[in-house]
Amino acid sequence: MAPETPGNEPQALSNLLHENRRFEPPVELAAAANVTEAAYTQAAADRLAFWEGAADRLTWAKRWETTLEWNAPFAKWFIGGELNVAYNCVDRHVEEGRGDKVAYYWEGEPEGDTRVLTYNDLKSEVSKAANALLELGVRKGDRVAVYMPMIPELPIAMLACARIGAIHSVVFGGFSATALKSRIDDADAKLVITADGGYRRGNPSALKPTVDEAVAQCPQVEHVLVVRRTGQNVAATDKDVWWHDLVERQSDQHTPEPHDAEDPLYILYTSGTTGRPKGILHTTGGYLTQTAWTHDAVFDLKPDKDIYWCTADIGWVTGHSYIVYGPLANGATSVIYEGTPDTPHRGRFWEIVQKYKVTLLYTAPTAIRTFMKWGDDIPAKYDMSSLRVIGSVGEPINPEAYVWYRENIGGSRCPVVDTWWQTETGAVMISPLPGVTSGKPGAAMRPLPGIVADVVDDQGNSVPNGGGGFLVIREPWPSMLRTIWGDDQRYIDTYWSRFEGMYFPGDGAKKDEDGDLWLLGRVDDVMLISGHNISTTEVESALVSHPKVAEAAVVGATDPVTGQAIVSFVILRGTAEESDDIAADLRNHVAKTLGPIAKPRQILVVPELPKTRSGKIMRRLLRDVAENRSVGDVTTLADSTVMDLISEKLPSAKSED
Ligand code: ATP
Ligand code: MG
Repeated sequence: MAPETPGNEPQALSNLLHENRRFEPPVELAAAANVTEAAYTQAAADRLAFWEGAADRLTWAKRWETTLEWNAPFAKWFIGGELNVAYNCVDRHVEEGRGDKVAYYWEGEPEGDTRVLTYNDLKSEVSKAANALLELGVRKGDRVAVYMPMIPELPIAMLACARIGAIHSVVFGGFSATALKSRIDDADAKLVITADGGYRRGNPSALKPTVDEAVAQCPQVEHVLVVRRTGQNVAATDKDVWWHDLVERQSDQHTPEPHDAEDPLYILYTSGTTGRPKGILHTTGGYLTQTAWTHDAVFDLKPDKDIYWCTADIGWVTGHSYIVYGPLANGATSVIYEGTPDTPHRGRFWEIVQKYKVTLLYTAPTAIRTFMKWGDDIPAKYDMSSLRVIGSVGEPINPEAYVWYRENIGGSRCPVVDTWWQTETGAVMISPLPGVTSGKPGAAMRPLPGIVADVVDDQGNSVPNGGGGFLVIREPWPSMLRTIWGDDQRYIDTYWSRFEGMYFPGDGAKKDEDGDLWLLGRVDDVMLISGHNISTTEVESALVSHPKVAEAAVVGATDPVTGQAIVSFVILRGTAEESDDIAADLRNHVAKTLGPIAKPRQILVVPELPKTRSGKIMRRLLRDVAENRSVGDVTTLADSTVMDLISEKLPSAKSED
C-alpha cells in the first residue's frame, strides 16, 4: 500500500484483500478441453491470425480481405467479408444435418408451460418473421425496437431483423414508457415488436399498455407487432398488428442475403447504473466471431453433449451474446426460462437444472448472493450432478459467493468462470478457461487469448504485480462497440479520452502477486479514505466473508475527519439473526480482514439493496442516503420501493467507534 501522503492525490487503488484458495481444473475436463494454453501463446505471437482462426468458425458468403483497419478509436474488422448472422445461427446447422437438434428448451413461468424449438423449427419461424417484417416495410438498416418478455418470439424477432439487415434495439421488458420512448426516439425506430404481457412472479404482467403510452408520442413508429402470450386484454390502436395474424400466414422460406461484416447488427442501451444510457452499436462479423469463440472456449462447449443455460434476460447484453448469438452460432442446445427464480418456489432454478440435466450454467453474482440468503438447504434438494462448468457475470463475484456457488451449485467439482465484460465489449474479455486455469475465488484471472488488457495508474503507466488502478484494453478486439449510436464524440469522450490510445471501460482493477486480474468495481464508486483509494468491492467482499452476511454494498460518505467514511448496507443470510452487536462484529471483521483503514463507520442491516434491472447494485443511490440527501434518479431501478425500506432503516443507524 502506498504511504499516506496528505495533500497529494493518491496514485492508485489499494490492494487489501488476499486470497490463498486455488481450484485446479478437473483432470478429465482439462484433457478434453476445447482450448488449451497453446491458444494464449498463439494469440500472443500473432493476434490477428488468432482472430482470423476464430472467424473461420463462421460461414462467410465472401471471405474478408483485411482483418483489421484501426483508425483509432474507430475499428473495422474483417473488411470486405460478407455473411448473414441468421444463416450462421440457424440455416447452416440445418444444412449440415442438425435440423432435428434442439436449439431451445423454453420453460414458461407457469409450471408445465413449455416449448421445444429445434433448429428446423427456428429456421421456419425466423424465415416467417423475416417475411413479415418485409411485408411491414422494414428494410435493411431500419431500426426495430423490441420490448418483449422472455418467450421464443424474442430471439426469433432478433434473428429475423439480423436476417434482413434491420438493426434491432431490444429494450428490457421492465422499463417504463418514458425509458422506452427515449430509446425508440434515439434510434428512430419505425417498428416496435412486443407482446400483450409475460409471466412474472406468478401473474401475467402487461407490456402492451407501456408500449401504447410510449408509441403515442412516437409518430415515426409505423406499426406495433404484438405477440399474444398471456391472453390478457389489450387496447387496440391503429398501428397494431397481431403476430399470429401476420407472421403465421407467411412463407417459411426466406433466402438470407449476405451482409457486410461491418453492417450494424444491433443497438443496445447500457443498463444505466452510472448515468444517461448510451446506445452501444455492434456490427456483424467481428461480433459473431468473438461471441461464438468465447462461448465455445469459456464454457468448453461440446455442442453434442451439453445443455447450456444462461439465466440472464435477453434484454441485456449477456442475453444477446450468450443466449442468442454465441450459442446459436455454435449450434448449442440452450434452456430459456421466462420467469423469476422464486416462482412458484425458491428452488425453481435448481428444478430446471435437474429437469433438463443442464451441464453449463451462466448466472450473476446478484442471483448467487440471493440464493445464499435463501439458504443452502434449497439447492441441496435437487440433483445437479449434470453440471460441469458454472459461470458468473455482471459484477465482481465476492470470494465467499464464488466458494458458495462452487460448493452448493457446482458440487465442489465444477470450475467457476468469472467473466468480465460489458455491453461495450460485446463478448467476454477477461475470464478463466475451465480446462486451463487454476481458479482463484474472486479473480477474473487473465485476459482471454487475443485480448490485451492491463491495469494502469492515473498517468497510464502499467502497475506492477501487487498494484491496483484502472483497467484498460490496449488493442482493438473483434466484438468491440463501433461507436455510440449517433454520437461519435460521446464515444471518444467516454472511452478513449482518459488514457491516450487505450480503451477505458470505467472499472478499477488490481494485479495480484501472480499478475492475475481482480475487478474492483467502477472507478466512480471508489472511496477516498484518509488519503487511500479503497474499492467498494474489497470491503463488500470482506463483509460477505462473514458467516452471517449474504450481500453487502458500501459507499463513501463525506466525513469531516477522514474525507470520506465507509458506510455499509448489509443483508443477512437466511439463518442469521439480527443482534445488537452485529454492527460491531462486522466492523471488527472488516478491520481484521483488510486492515483498520477499511473499517466501516456505519453498518446498516437492510432487507434489500437498490439494483438495476440487470441486478447491479446502484451505489450512487446509497450514497444519497448515507449523505442524507434526497435520493436521485431511480428510473433504472428494478424496484423503486426498495429505497423507502432502506431510508426507514436510517434513523437506527449508529456510528460507533
Ligand atoms: P452503465 O454503463 O449504463 O452504467 P452497466 O455498466 O451497468 O451500465 P453493463 O454493460 O451490463 O451495464 O455492465 C458492465 C459492467 O458490469 C462492467 O463495466 C463492470 O463494472 C461490471 N461487470 C461485469 N462483469 C463483471 C465481472 N465478472 N467482474 C466484475 N465486474 C463485472
Ligand atoms: Mg457500463
